[in-house]
Amino acid sequence: MVFNEFLIKYGEIGIKGNNRHVFEDALVKRIKHSLKRLGDFTIVKERGRIYIYCPSEYDYDETVSVLQKIFGIVGICPVMESKDRDEESILKLCEKYIAEVYPERNFSFKVESRRIDKEYPRNSMEVSADVGERLLSVYPELTVDVHDPDVLINVEIRDSIFVYSKIIPGAGGMPVGTAGKAMLLLSGGIDSPVAGYMVSKRGVFIDAVYFHAPPYTSERAKEKVIDLARIISAYTGPIRLNIINFTDIQLAIYEKCPHEELTIIMRRYMMRIAERIAEKTGAQGLVTGESIGQVASQTMASMYCTNAVCRMPVYRPLVAFDKNDIIELAEKIGTFETSTLPYEDCCTIFVAKHPVTKPVLSRIEKSEELLTGIDELVEKAVSEAEEIIVRKYSEE
Ligand code: ATP
Ligand code: MG
Repeated sequence: MVFNEFLIKYGEIGIKGNNRHVFEDALVKRIKHSLKRLGDFTIVKERGRIYIYCPSEYDYDETVSVLQKIFGIVGICPVMESKDRDEESILKLCEKYIAEVYPERNFSFKVESRRIDKEYPRNSMEVSADVGERLLSVYPELTVDVHDPDVLINVEIRDSIFVYSKIIPGAGGMPVGTAGKAMLLLSGGIDSPVAGYMVSKRGVFIDAVYFHAPPYTSERAKEKVIDLARIISAYTGPIRLNIINFTDIQLAIYEKCPHEELTIIMRRYMMRIAERIAEKTGAQGLVTGESIGQVASQTMASMYCTNAVCRMPVYRPLVAFDKNDIIELAEKIGTFETSTLPYEDCCTIFVAKHPVTKPVLSRIEKSEELLTGIDELVEKAVSEAEEIIVRKYSEE
């Protein structure tokens, strides 16, 4: 590959005033961590920019693909650099850039220069004009189009000279870890992995909790959830997945409570337990894949009842999304296929034929009074939680 350097552009995090270095450091750390197994990359932070210097041999496509999953990066620019900054060096660098990056030179271009070092003797307009002129004389097949060029050649004059024309889109968002930690209720469905991805994109570190009900739910259903956690961990970083045995609680609810209220009561216990685990791990919010009206347990009345047991904020990033939009995102982040594998979920096994769509909180609370001994079962479920740390395959 012709490039041995990338320039990383980051948007939002550039505007954080005094906190800016915290965001930049978090981003550098994420980049270092993610690229570690791909080779000996050097990451340099300098005046609002991050540069990645590549080892002599590396996999360009894989490197770009890894960088595209790092929240906080807006653009990835493969770049050529020259430490010599005299006029002739700039012109030579631009010639070389075109020769190597665009062997077929049938395009129109425009040169845009930025003089970050204001001491530099020529201003940006002059540099652009000089470069344009040189490129046209060396490659007469090129044309200039200042309004709608096929290729925009960027020349930046800093402590070195940088030339680039490609800006590969990054994932956007904020570097993971800069906005605290949340506990994701991760099921094997389509929605919750997407919800985790979205909150993580805002810079939140994600832990997860999964409720299973052996022997009613299988080991394969659990593996599926682990796989989903692994897929999103390419974006979120390693996930501490807490696996809760929910069988006894579910059976107790099933035996003692009105069947049309099963799902709501079950959800309330999931929330209570998730909150307990979150308190233990220092997470300050819960995240679910709920979306208004998607199923009976996601009407306003149902979510009112579910939410009533939580003290922590509950984040529902998909709350106003249509299912199709969620599916589109699931496909984009690579979870859809795994989510749609047909393994049973603990909620579907104990589901009522006609669940309430307008549950009344006082009635739900009354039904829960029938659950004698439930607190002990909750204690047991929390204390026996199995914790596994899930990383994307390639980091293992
Ligand atoms: P999903 O596709 O995320 O499973 P869903 O539309 O199937 O969503 P529900 O089954 O009603 O929705 O669950 C709503 C939310 O409750 C899920 O998005 C998830 O956050 C949480 N949840 C449901 N079941 C479980 C479970 N077994 N373990 C952990 N969280 C769960
Ligand atoms: Mg589900």
